[in-house]
Amino acid sequence: MLSRTDLRSALPSSAELRTTLPRAEVDVDQVLHRVRPIVEDVRARGVAAALDYTEQFDGVRPASVRVPAAELTTALAELDPAVRAALEESIARARRVHGDQRRTDVTTQVVPGGTVTERWVPVGRVGLYVPGGLAVYPSSVVMNVVPAQAAGVESLVVCSPAQADFGGRPHPAILAAAALLGVDEVWAVGGAQAVALLAHGGTDTDGAALDPVDMITGPGNIYVTAAKRLLRGLIGIDSEAGPTEIAILADAGADPVHVAADLISQAEHDPLAASVLVTDSVELADAVDDELARQVKATKHSERVTTALSGPQSGTVLVSTVEDGLRVVDAYAAEHLEIQTANARELAARVRNAGAVFVGAYAPVSLGDYCAGSNHVLPTGGCARHSSGLSVQTFLRGIHVVDYTEDALREVAGHVVALANAEDLPAHGQAVTARFRDLA
Ligand code: NAD
Repeated sequence: MLSRTDLRSALPSSAELRTTLPRAEVDVDQVLHRVRPIVEDVRARGVAAALDYTEQFDGVRPASVRVPAAELTTALAELDPAVRAALEESIARARRVHGDQRRTDVTTQVVPGGTVTERWVPVGRVGLYVPGGLAVYPSSVVMNVVPAQAAGVESLVVCSPAQADFGGRPHPAILAAAALLGVDEVWAVGGAQAVALLAHGGTDTDGAALDPVDMITGPGNIYVTAAKRLLRGLIGIDSEAGPTEIAILADAGADPVHVAADLISQAEHDPLAASVLVTDSVELADAVDDELARQVKATKHSERVTTALSGPQSGTVLVSTVEDGLRVVDAYAAEHLEIQTANARELAARVRNAGAVFVGAYAPVSLGDYCAGSNHVLPTGGCARHSSGLSVQTFLRGIHVVDYTEDALREVAGHVVALANAEDLPAHGQAVTARFRDLA
């Protein structure tokens, strides 16, 4: 089922690997011409335009965009107790991990009388996009809200597509998750129109103000990503999420039943999802193929899974040694990397590029999706080479506070003037010497 790339005779360089490894091609630019008019229209006409697009793409026109708070409480009361208990555990674990991430302000005494303090200040108002197209993700509410709250963000709004099956509200599990997390502002709007409405704000059908946000986080499909790209600058964004992906680095000792199950679990997200096995064992690769054939038939979303596993973005990469495998997964920079080898912990400590690393036989990605305590909003498409997943840090800005006394400024004045003159900006130097008549 998985196509094979054989790198046993010669391992390409990291740069070559980036282009030879299987990867989903998602060209956000190709939908910009469709998304730009939506964004413009929502900027100009606000809620009325957003509702028009909701009707067009989601097949329903809700009476208002903001979900009344009472409906969040009702959704929580009606939530399946087993799902509620699972969400509570997921929230508790995520809060434990993210609570430890909060940075403390640092003051550096540069010279006597001269200090620079880095103050970490939360973003004021954040919009959290929770997808609601192919599947509903109450877990994404947890993964967006917990770090934002831990960072101290004061104003949070959750946005998720209106669902025709639920009277134009987001899926009840999303409303319940928001209620459980103490978020009382939820808007029933998805896609590019949601991103535009979050960025520009508007007035709801009942006259209530929908205040614009400073930042938008959370994954979404290509239209959501395109709108984030267009509005970046006006608002901050976390990243441009592409289709989800897993790489598994495994040796002959890995259990093919587990490996196949984990590849399938990722493929279940999306027909464009990437599942990549990197191994030094042809026997394991063959056994995983056999297992995939058996397990895919029995899985609920077998059509979607088959499309994802047989697509060009998925495959098996054969390498001569596990060390070469490490180089391959580092070049690939997977959103999720599982290491199922004899020395998994040692290899995990040496990984340079991955959104999150899952170590050994008992840390499948689905643990991280829901209940590990780690965040599941992670960089895709190789962006793990330069970016991190969602964390408390995403929602903080470092502000440098410069505090110098007269003596401390006087001591360095000559250097400031020299650099200002070297850059032909003499007024910069004069702004310092103006304070010291003897130096002028
Ligand atoms: P979505 O909420 O992102 O998109 C649905 C919206 O797209 C709809 O509300 C609709 O308004 C809009 N839309 C649909 N067709 C359109 C068209 N032709 N033109 C303009 N707008 C259109 O939900 P989705 O589609 O299911 O995508 C969710 C994505 O998020 C998937 O790719 C999934 O893998 C990803 N995801 C990632 C993570 C992560 O942590 N990385 C977590 C959950 C989901």
